[in-house]
Amino acid sequence: MGEYKKRVPSSVAAEGRDKIVKRNGNLSSTSGNVKDASSKSPDFSVIRERIVLREASQRILLEQGTIPPNSQYYACGRYKIKKHVVLASDSEGQGAIRNVAHCASVWACPSCSSVIQHWRGNEIGFASSAWFAASPENVVYFMTLTVPHSRLDDPFFLWTAEKEALNLFWSSRQVKNCKKIIAYLGRITGVEMTIGDPMDPETNGWHIHQHIAIFGKRLTPELFASIENTFKQVWLECLIRVGLCKPDQLSTLRAFNYSLRLEVVRKIDKYLTKFSNEIGTPNSKCARVDGRYTPFYVLTLAGQGIPWAKKAWGVYYQLTKGKRQLVWSDGLKDYFKVREVSDQKVADWKAQQNLKNIVAISDWRKIRAVPNAELTILSALSEGRVDLLFDFLNKAGIEYTTDPDFMEYSVSSLRSVDGGLSYPEFLRKKGRGDMRL
Ligand SMILES: [Zn+2]
Repeated sequence: MGEYKKRVPSSVAAEGRDKIVKRNGNLSSTSGNVKDASSKSPDFSVIRERIVLREASQRILLEQGTIPPNSQYYACGRYKIKKHVVLASDSEGQGAIRNVAHCASVWACPSCSSVIQHWRGNEIGFASSAWFAASPENVVYFMTLTVPHSRLDDPFFLWTAEKEALNLFWSSRQVKNCKKIIAYLGRITGVEMTIGDPMDPETNGWHIHQHIAIFGKRLTPELFASIENTFKQVWLECLIRVGLCKPDQLSTLRAFNYSLRLEVVRKIDKYLTKFSNEIGTPNSKCARVDGRYTPFYVLTLAGQGIPWAKKAWGVYYQLTKGKRQLVWSDGLKDYFKVREVSDQKVADWKAQQNLKNIVAISDWRKIRAVPNAELTILSALSEGRVDLLFDFLNKAGIEYTTDPDFMEYSVSSLRSVDGGLSYPEFLRKKGRGDMRL
């Protein structure tokens, strides 16, 4: 084992500077200048937003008593999981902070959800591409199911009743007949939701809807119309049975017309765009549509201290906790040879890439006390600016070492994503090359 406390060797610093001079022609950037780094890489505005939102969420939920300080959700990005936090990068502009906890919350963590949903999107893209390539008759039916609701409806009731209606739908005799007609292979069900201000009479509260991709064969327009009509009729009956639709003429007519949409998809892009819901993209610019807010926009408002949004965010966290966002029907992943990889493994994946370890730090708490520390570090790593990284650490008075003996991190190889397809394998199979999370 080598000496722990080390400053960067001056030769390394000089070499780093030379490289930067060659590349940029000047040395204008200074340490900790996050804004400067973000302006070069537009992705950093999104990464910054995710970090800010994640910390706002952790603070709000802790204050509310919704989560305890020792929860995995609160630990995400805050606590280390090994003695040393290791900062790593490669020459391609990828950086990672290793040995820091990830909560793997696909619903409520702005940082983890983006990683997980990106992975899940690739799984769906992989399966769909294989399905479309196998025969021109293969299609995906994209079905969106909604339920009538008002701004005062309890979201826990809506969720439970909607899932119950969905079970009734798939077990109905008519739907089973339809499955035979479309040569049903399997389905992927995704849940998406928007949230309205309960005090705003123009909104209608919690809007929880299901997106279902059904793998099947192409139908004639007449048969398609017949299937669509049967689906609508059965869904309406299910809604009435679980108490989500009143049986009067006006309510049933509205529910029949607006609660189910079915379309045929042959183009992967269109399909994926619809499936990758807004939850994965904290985008505050176009998040409000007709008084409906995406969950992360509600979190943005909550972070600004708006009372209804803080309350709604707490309810959203509790509503979604432990629930699955995306479910493949039995056997479908096997059919496409997509192996199960847990959300936790996926969330940890980014820190497991084949990167070069640069520096190990034991006092992560001290780093976190520096404003914008996480973003500054990620920015420097992704820019390949090792000099900025050391500058930052030195100015903040952080002890560190570059000794490889301290660079152990929790996972040792790319293959360790639990026997499932590793991310590079996905990309190779998809033939898309060097795409990054
Ligand atoms: Zn997280």
